Amino acid sequence: MRRVAVLGSTGSIGRTALRVIARQRGLYTLSAITAHSNAALLAEQESAWHPAFVGLVAPGEGGARGGWQTGEGALVDAATRDDVDIVVNAVVGVAGMDATLAALEAGKRVALANKETLVVAGELAAEAGSRGGGEIVPVDSEHSAILQCLAARRPSDVRRLVITASGGPFREWPAERIAAATRSDALRHPTWSMGSKITVDSATLANKALEVIEAHFLFGLPYDRIEVVVHPQSIVHSMVEFVDGSVLAQLGVPSMEVPILYALTHPERVDDAGTPRFDPVNAPPLTFEPVRTDVFPALGLGVEAGRRGGIAPAVFNAANEVAVARFLRGEIPFGGIAAAIERALSTVHGPGGADRESLMDADRRARKVVSEIR
Ligand code: NDP
Ligand code: MG
Repeated sequence: MRRVAVLGSTGSIGRTALRVIARQRGLYTLSAITAHSNAALLAEQESAWHPAFVGLVAPGEGGARGGWQTGEGALVDAATRDDVDIVVNAVVGVAGMDATLAALEAGKRVALANKETLVVAGELAAEAGSRGGGEIVPVDSEHSAILQCLAARRPSDVRRLVITASGGPFREWPAERIAAATRSDALRHPTWSMGSKITVDSATLANKALEVIEAHFLFGLPYDRIEVVVHPQSIVHSMVEFVDGSVLAQLGVPSMEVPILYALTHPERVDDAGTPRFDPVNAPPLTFEPVRTDVFPALGLGVEAGRRGGIAPAVFNAANEVAVARFLRGEIPFGGIAAAIERALSTVHGPGGADRESLMDADRRARKVVSEIR
């Protein structure tokens, strides 16, 4: 029996993870759950699962139940418990970073949905894993696909990774219309149902930039061997081209249940009759097209930040987090998100090194730049 902590259990990935674990009760038990402020759903989950640990980072007016741990330390405490083998990190944003690092340091498997961790602190995560013996297995569908296609091959066997992107709701929109897109336009994702931050990231393609950086750190490939292609049906989850010209892809209907389950079981597979089946005959035709990089500048800005390294990915991520939150509050237009990222990347500079302190300082400075944009 492997014991699981789900950080961000009240979110889209967190709730899906509980559904997956519920179908595998013979193999996995739930030891810990955490939320940010959704005390009502957290209480429902506690009543259904009776985990040993329940954490609520920011209890609002409803407060927390007796026995719950509250405050920022709840994530790290959940992630490092002795009765936890696997930490599903489904927190959104850099808020999930310390829990990932602490879990790796404590020798846990981290089933990582919280891609912001790797973008901001890819090197620190690698160091924490080698010191503590922990490992990251990606939940992100593209990276799960690549992991499965790689099947433990060395980077030298790989010519390039091809990450697929749905293209988001504005794939075919003209540039002027995209610049003025509304909140509800951006939240209408064509193929995936997800939390609001990643849904907006999918509309700007900032999500693909985060994923390119995530892939760089997970699989150890340089940026010029990681490409992005638009695939509107979201059925081919990504591809690996090997040096002999062979290309492997992983397919399936768009559902996060499969990559979440695989992150728990890797490198094994378990029987799960509950995951949605793929029927090639009834599937839509699979199409691929280039990214309109001029219309979605956030992708290029993010990949460039990845190439620069040091604090640049942390600046990109923090600027994007604040810009998306401001867009969702109606304070800046959709086109303002990429503009804010660009502003932060051109103003926040710092040392090439990437220790935790420099990264968090860069994160703070980028947040300030973007929150002051009028
Ligand atoms: P949601 O917004 O649906 O859920 C976020 C979860 O994190 C909630 O449980 C929320 O708690 C909690 N949370 C939010 N802020 C904090 C904080 N500051 N401290 C502690 N906990 C916090 O997001 P998603 O589930 O969509 O995404 C989670 C992560 O997974 C993101 O990094 C995203 O990029 C990644 N991902 C998501 C996919 C998807 O299909 N949704 C696919 C691939 C990756 P509360 O409910 O109390 O607010
Ligand atoms: Mg993804």
